[in-house]
Amino acid sequence: MSLNSQLLNGKVAIVTGASRGIGREIALHLGAQGAAVIVNYASNANAAKEVVDAITKAGGRATAVQASIGRDISQGNKLVQAAVDAYGGLDILVNNAGVYLGGAGSEGVTEEQFDEMFAVNSKGPFFLLRAASKVIRNNGRIVNISSASLASGAVSLFGAYAPSKAPLHEYTKLFAAELAGRGVTVNTVMPGFTATDMLSDKILEIAKASSLFKRVGTVEDVAVVVDFLVSPTNNWTTAQSLHVSGGGTLSR
Ligand code: NAP
Repeated sequence: MSLNSQLLNGKVAIVTGASRGIGREIALHLGAQGAAVIVNYASNANAAKEVVDAITKAGGRATAVQASIGRDISQGNKLVQAAVDAYGGLDILVNNAGVYLGGAGSEGVTEEQFDEMFAVNSKGPFFLLRAASKVIRNNGRIVNISSASLASGAVSLFGAYAPSKAPLHEYTKLFAAELAGRGVTVNTVMPGFTATDMLSDKILEIAKASSLFKRVGTVEDVAVVVDFLVSPTNNWTTAQSLHVSGGGTLSR
């Protein structure tokens, strides 16, 4: 990956769940475009350090910050404060951290798994959005990472996962309305099946059939759409949910 537009020079970004997978690639993209990046992780400090090292070796600025987005809303506040302390403010928030627990159908999830998914995928992002909205600078950019599983004909395959992501779309509309006066855009990206640690090789093999291109997505496929949404040139696309799934659903 090499992006050198420096379109984001002077901007400060937080990417949650940036130690691995989609969040990692988004952090690398933002760093390569000149943004100073808070690389958030839950437990994998080594992986987060590797992301920070990759950004700094390429001439960018990045800091790893541990915070468990979820039940304890002070963790999100800590991330926002880290951006202000390290880089003097905040311009971009990518609410990417998420978990997929349990199995198919309403019977596929335990109460503990349900609580954890709704904590990480829904409660944590809401309060992080609220904390970030207090400090985000004019013309800031916010992207929430949801999932194309919500609109999939195979929604029951995902048990309570898709329902736990559904509130992100309403948060997007709420915060887009609240922050529009300051030129801040807020959007949701809905990745289809994407090759990361989240999904087993078996699921990824089956998932190839769901895309019009007969392959699963790459983290790069998702990051380039986030690049567009957070770009200073995107002043007009806001309060939207974008599918990034190769045109795919399992119902095709
Ligand atoms: P992944 O490979 O499993 O990586 C998850 C990342 O989130 C890791 O960096 C992990 O940190 C971090 N994380 C997990 N729980 C966290 C918490 N409570 N607080 C902070 N960070 C936390 O996942 P992924 O596939 O890249 O998924 C990224 C996002 O895309 C998620 O929201 C997911 O629901 C969504 N999505 C994924 C797919 C897909 O097919 N992969 C499709 C649609 C949507 P550690 O390294 O410290 O564990």
